[in-house]
Amino acid sequence: MGFNIAVDGPAGAGKSTIAKRAAQELSFIYVDTGAMYRAIALYFLRHHVCVEHPEEVENACDQIQIAIRYENQEQQVFLNGENVTAFLRTEEVGNMASVSSAKPAVRAKLLNLQREIAQKENVLMDGRDIGSNVLPGAELKIYLTASVQTRAERRYQELKEKGIACNLEEIKKDIEERDYRDMNRDVSPLVKTEDAVLIDSSNMTIDQVVESILNLYQERRHSL
Ligand code: C5P
Repeated sequence: MGFNIAVDGPAGAGKSTIAKRAAQELSFIYVDTGAMYRAIALYFLRHHVCVEHPEEVENACDQIQIAIRYENQEQQVFLNGENVTAFLRTEEVGNMASVSSAKPAVRAKLLNLQREIAQKENVLMDGRDIGSNVLPGAELKIYLTASVQTRAERRYQELKEKGIACNLEEIKKDIEERDYRDMNRDVSPLVKTEDAVLIDSSNMTIDQVVESILNLYQERRHSL
């Protein structure tokens, strides 16, 4: 059994950047569970699966095989044997993932895979329900958040740097909608568990957040 670190939090809190960096520093395997949900969303989009029809969703899930592998320490997600990593970060896929991940069949599909990885390795896994549901026994749980305004501004900058036209108010609305869906769904909603350490990154740099995770890890390791 490895040492497990669970990092949960809302969209745009900087989880993947920070989790990836912290995992690298610790020589842990970084598992981006959002990318797995995105891969299923990509399948739904490609195959025009109607997410409002439970039977259609269940049938589609039966057709899906998700696997992850690592190339140069970067997580690659395979959907039925195809490396789809390059197609996962679009707004369209993100929005579909936010809707489709609320479906029980979709969550059931990924739960065992995520647990199996964490059993064998030292992992830092990020998502929405890692500390609450996937790895409730994780040695360290972090709830990473930031204000909606900060998250929207960060996203806005990111898109602008990529030369993608965007509007701050629309991004804010999108973030609020995603938060609402993630926090209010029936299955595995996003919650901060009592034993998770809250980090609000609104006024922190990436380095400062990574540093505090590394410190928490050291403290926890010594107390075990
Ligand atoms: O983190 P990321 O934005 O890539 O996640 C995409 C979507 O997948 C989220 O909006 C969330 O609804 C869903 N998700 C989830 N549980 C996880 C990880 C992601 O429901 N553990």
